[in-house]
Parts: sequence; C-alpha cells; structure tokens
Amino acid sequence: MNKTQKKMSFFDRKNKNKNYDICPICNKPIHNVITSVTHRETGKNAHFDCLIKELKKEYHLKPDEDIFYIGAGRFGIVEKVKKGKSMNLVIKRRIQYEEKNI
Ligand SMILES: [Zn+2]
Repeated sequence: MNKTQKKMSFFDRKNKNKNYDICPICNKPIHNVITSVTHRETGKNAHFDCLIKELKKEYHLKPDEDIFYIGAGRFGIVEKVKKGKSMNLVIKRRIQYEEKNI
C-alpha cells in the first residue's frame, strides 16, 4: 500500500462519522464549509464554485465579465478593462445573494 492510499482510507473513515452538507447544485458533499454559501433556492449550503457557475448562467455574462465574491453575502459582476498594459477589474453590478444579519 502506498502512502496516498493510506491517507485516503483514513479520510474515508473520518468522513463517515461526520455529516457533510450535500451541495444542491452538484449533489456532492461539501467538505470545506468555509468555501460554501447558502443556496438561495434551497436554503442549503452549496459549493462556492457551483454558485458562481449558476450565477454566470443566470446573469448571462459576457466573455470579458466574471463573478467574484465581494464579501458580506454579496457577489460582484466585474468587467475586465484594459488600461495600457495592465488589466483593471471594474465592478459593474453587485448581487446581494445571502441575507446577512449583522
Ligand atoms: Zn457543488
């Protein structure tokens, strides 16, 4: 048995004792809660990447646009703007995704 296999089986055993949330978008467990956001439609935790993919579809992003998490439950649609040699990111629209009670 090599080292990687040993490591994997250790994690598998560990995972069985823990109840992971299942991402409502891709139906896979969320191992890292820090990189998850509450899914608006289901109220469940979802992967960060899955949500961004969903938002990209929903807002019909242009090729030069992208979505980033800008904090406090908000996403921002940014446009890449060339300025001389450097590339600037301009936030075009903010999406309040998660309700945050601060
Ligand atoms: Zn997912």
